[in-house]
Amino acid sequence: MGKERIIIVGQGLAGSCLALELLRRGLEPLVVDHSETNTASMVAAGLFNPVTSRVKTSTWMAEVLFPYLHEFYRSHESLLKENFYHPKPMYRPFTEISDQEGWSVQNHPFVSSIHFSSKYGSFVKDSFGGIVLKNSGYVDTAAFVLTVRRYLKSLGLYVEHSLDLKSSSIDDVLLTLNAAGSRIIFCEGVRIATNPWFNWLPISSLKGETAQVETNLPDDIIFNRGVYLVPFNGPGMFKVGATYDRSQVAGNSVKGLEELSKKTDALINVPFRVTGQSWGFRPVVTDRRPILGLHPEKKNLVVFNGLGTKGVTLAPWFASCLADWLEGKDTLPDEVNISRFYPLYFKYLHKAP
Ligand SMILES: Cc1cc2nc3c(=O)[nH]c(=O)nc-3n(C[C@H](O)[C@H](O)[C@H](O)COP(=O)(O)OP(=O)(O)OC[C@H]3O[C@@H](n4cnc5c(N)ncnc54)[C@H](O)[C@@H]3O)c2cc1C
Repeated sequence: MGKERIIIVGQGLAGSCLALELLRRGLEPLVVDHSETNTASMVAAGLFNPVTSRVKTSTWMAEVLFPYLHEFYRSHESLLKENFYHPKPMYRPFTEISDQEGWSVQNHPFVSSIHFSSKYGSFVKDSFGGIVLKNSGYVDTAAFVLTVRRYLKSLGLYVEHSLDLKSSSIDDVLLTLNAAGSRIIFCEGVRIATNPWFNWLPISSLKGETAQVETNLPDDIIFNRGVYLVPFNGPGMFKVGATYDRSQVAGNSVKGLEELSKKTDALINVPFRVTGQSWGFRPVVTDRRPILGLHPEKKNLVVFNGLGTKGVTLAPWFASCLADWLEGKDTLPDEVNISRFYPLYFKYLHKAP
C-alpha cells in the first residue's frame, strides 16, 4: 500500500499553479505529465489584460484575479530564480471617433491614460487616439511551465509518464504511481476528452494560432486591436495572436497566417516579416468559466480544467481556491464548481450502453 498523497495529472498552467499552491501550504503533490510540446500552455502568448472587450467594463472578477496573479507570478519568479512574468502597459487604439465616448481614468481602475488624438502614430494606426491600460502584460508560459517542471524534478515530485486512462481502472493508475488510496486532480487541458471519468464535461477544443514576426516596435508596451503583439524571444521579435477557430485539424494553417497578417497590417504602421507560426487547442467550457471540484461519484477524483482563452489570469487564483478546498479550509465558488454540471453526468450515465 502506497503513501496517501495528492497526485496531479497534467502540468500545463493549471497543474503548475496548483502544484505551487499546494507546495506553499506545505503539501507535496506528485505531478505526472507526458511532456507534450504542443499543449496550449507551451504555445500561448501569455497575455493578461483586464479590459478585453470594447465595452468599458473590466473582465470577469478582474478586481480579485489581477492583484492575485501579480503576487503569484512575482513571488514565484523570486522563489524559482527565473524571469517569466512581464507586466507591461497595453495600448488599445480606438477604431472610430465614437470609441472615444464614455472613457474616464477616474472611473476605471485599469486605465492609466486616455488619448483623443494619435499617441503612437509612428508605430500604429491610431488617428482617433486610444487608451493605455495598466495591470496588463504577459507571462512567458513555456518558460514558466518548464521552470516549474525543473523545480518539481529537483524536489523529486515530478514523474514523466503518459497515463493510459482509457484501459486502466483508477486503482491500477494509482498502483502504477505507488500511491494507492490517493486523490487525483486531473489538469489535462483538452485531453480531458479521453478521460473516462470526466469526458462528459462540456469542455471542447478551440484552436488558436499565433505568428512570430520581426518588426521595429518598442518592447515596453503591448499594442492590441484585433491582434496583440507581445515581445518574444529577443529584440525586435513579437508574437502576434491569436485566431479562434472551431476547426479540429491539428497544425498551422494558411488561413490562420493570412488572418493574422491581415490584422497586423490593419494595426501597425511599420513593416513586419513573419518568421514562424504556432498552433494549439484551448480547453473551453460552454459557460466560459473554469471547472473545479469533485467527480459526482468517485470521491478521490477531482478536476481543474476549462481555463479557455485566459489561463494566465485564471489559473493562479482558482488553483489557490482549489488548494484551500483540498485542505478542507473552504468551499468552492459556485460559479466554477463542477457541481453545476452534475445533471449532465447523470444524463450521460443514462445514455451509456
Ligand atoms: C494559440 C494560443 C494562444 C493563447 N494565448 C493565451 C494568452 O495570450 N493568454 C492566456 O491567458 N491564455 C492563452 N491561451 C490559453 C491558455 O494557453 C490555456 O488557457 C491554458 O494553457 C490551459 O492550460 P491547461 O493546464 O488547462 O492545459 P494544457 O496546457 O493543455 O496542459 C495540460 C497538460 O496535461 C498533460 N496531460 C494531459 N493528459 C495527460 C495524461 N493522461 N498523462 C500525462 N499527462 C497528461 C499534457 O501533456 C499537458 O502538459 C492561448 C492558447 C492558445 C492555443
